[in-house]
Amino acid sequence: MQSIPRLITAAAVCFFFISSIALAQLEYKSGILWDRPERVEGAMPVCTPAPEGAVVLFDGGDITKTFDNAQNWVVKDGYAEVHGGSITSKQSFGSCKIHLEWAEPEKVVSSSQGRGNSGVYIMGKYEVQILDSYNNETYFDGQCGSIYKQAPPLKNVCRKPGEWQSYDITFTAPKFDEKGNVTRKARLTVVQNGIVVQDDFELLGGTFWYKPPVYEAHEPKLPLSLQDHGNPVRFRNIWVQEIDD
Ligand code: MG
Repeated sequence: MQSIPRLITAAAVCFFFISSIALAQLEYKSGILWDRPERVEGAMPVCTPAPEGAVVLFDGGDITKTFDNAQNWVVKDGYAEVHGGSITSKQSFGSCKIHLEWAEPEKVVSSSQGRGNSGVYIMGKYEVQILDSYNNETYFDGQCGSIYKQAPPLKNVCRKPGEWQSYDITFTAPKFDEKGNVTRKARLTVVQNGIVVQDDFELLGGTFWYKPPVYEAHEPKLPLSLQDHGNPVRFRNIWVQEIDD
């Protein structure tokens, strides 16, 4: 007869394997064998002040005035550091230009998707990845500058951990008919540190970790989110310019 400790150990091992299999099945991977994005050294952030008429989402002041769930983010010396959950803009946007600056944690911790992960979730659904991709291997369509699990960046222009970087994003919102079918797909151009890393890419749908991209009908305007993936990424100078369409 087996001892109780042995049975407990066997049960724990079974649970571990079953959980691992379940988790492995949950994650979606495109399976596309992308070329490695070319590495570009020396790209510099473009730190543009908010133009007239832009919606300022963060300028170093009280981030809770413009974002929900931001009460735990650490605001200091003009930046806001991820802490205590993803934040969502109080204002909704459709097609727009988004400017933001961010810095990866200076202290390098973990690897792959665990290193300096955050993200710009446009309309809360379409993620432009933020990751420390300076000497950090991960799947190419999940590295910094990617449209998550849809398109790797055209180039890897990431600066060192702790250095400020910039995104200038031009987003064309999708349109849907009354039946919920997409009639105009979303498009993204992303300029990172002054270099084009996504060139008018037509999105395949929403970006998901657990399933392939798919369009799910939604309102013409929705809030913007910044992701808390458990890493203390810093943000500054965030503004949005709406585009009429
Ligand atoms: Mg992310």
